[in-house]
Amino acid sequence: MTCKFAEMPDEKGYFGEYGGQIIPPELVKIMNDINDAYEKVRQTDAFKSELALLNADYTGRPSPVYYASRLSEKVGGARIFFKREDLNHTGAHKINHCLGEALLAKHMGKTKVLAETGAGQHGVALATACALVDIECEIHMGQIDIEKEHPNVTKMKILGCKLVPVSRGTQTLKDAVDSAFEEYLKDPANYFYAIGSVVGPHPFPRMVRDFQSIVGHEARAQFLQKEGRLPDIITACVGGGSNAIGLFTAFLNDEEVKLVGVEPAGKGLDTAEHAATLTKGTKGALHGFECYNLQDEEGNPLPVYSIASGLDYPGVGPQHCYLKDIKRVEYETADDKECLDAFMALSRLEGIIPALESAHAIAYAMRIAATLPKEKSILVNLSGRGDKDADFVARKLKL
Ligand SMILES: *Cc1c(COP(=O)(O)O)cnc(C)c1O
Repeated sequence: MTCKFAEMPDEKGYFGEYGGQIIPPELVKIMNDINDAYEKVRQTDAFKSELALLNADYTGRPSPVYYASRLSEKVGGARIFFKREDLNHTGAHKINHCLGEALLAKHMGKTKVLAETGAGQHGVALATACALVDIECEIHMGQIDIEKEHPNVTKMKILGCKLVPVSRGTQTLKDAVDSAFEEYLKDPANYFYAIGSVVGPHPFPRMVRDFQSIVGHEARAQFLQKEGRLPDIITACVGGGSNAIGLFTAFLNDEEVKLVGVEPAGKGLDTAEHAATLTKGTKGALHGFECYNLQDEEGNPLPVYSIASGLDYPGVGPQHCYLKDIKRVEYETADDKECLDAFMALSRLEGIIPALESAHAIAYAMRIAATLPKEKSILVNLSGRGDKDADFVARKLKL
């Protein structure tokens, strides 16, 4: 297989037939300006050394690779390792791209960073990065989500960002996107819309991937050093796809390593309540780019569901769509029950409370490990910690 993964996407932002810029012409210019600025800035010593210093001394990178011996023994098969992104400052991988985006906005002389947030995870990570980099931050959030996600709302306020409640329509993520985007369109030359995953129009899928790829580069070197070889399987959960592509990028050319993305099967793939976009979706355009998506016959996004709010997105990053089609990455699913079982297993056996998002990848790893011999190894991206989910799970399981 001679794929020049490093050179993807092409100039127009396409990964095969996915990605691109499905946006009005005036926005194409703005996106291309961001791409040009990114190309220039990312190669300067000032930007590189600033980001490297923050990754190390602020986020706490490199995050460790941990061998989960008790979990592995219990499952009884292949050995399971974790890349501990849950140990990053703010508790998840999102800080990796938020720092990159905030720094880029600052270097471009932008006056304000804007975004929407659903459960508040992207909002908190972005507000953190903007406080640090000293740039104004405005987050739009649905009124219903504001009431549901109290701790994150409080954190965003403390961190000094302007929180805009959205009380139109469904008062959730979808309307928060529209509201934030309207604000952005008031002055796109001076504002920076910080997308929270490897989605949206070019250059975001590429830029966010680049900022996240530190995860896989570290993990590959750490695993080699620890084990003297590469893992047999690497796996990560897939919502928009940023933590997964962050882990996969460094391994794309290692043909002996099997790459597996795990989508939420929710209440079952045969019900309407899941968010398994790559498994059940069809090609279409969404939020400015081409990808697989869960859509009705007219091409409108369908309501999606996951027990992990960070995974309930009707689309998915264009590079994942391409990697699925060329069969370099396999996409599997885990349902709510498997996710909760994995959440509890890791908590009770290893003393690590994972995010419900990450627990989907853990569930897959446990399922597949049981079928493999001890000599095999699986590396899981533990994308975040589960503090945010602890109360919900305790109530759900009546603990
Ligand atoms: C947001 C989030 C995800 C899902 O986003 P991706 O872009 O698919 O990585 C996964 N895990 C955690 C902990 C998150 O906060």
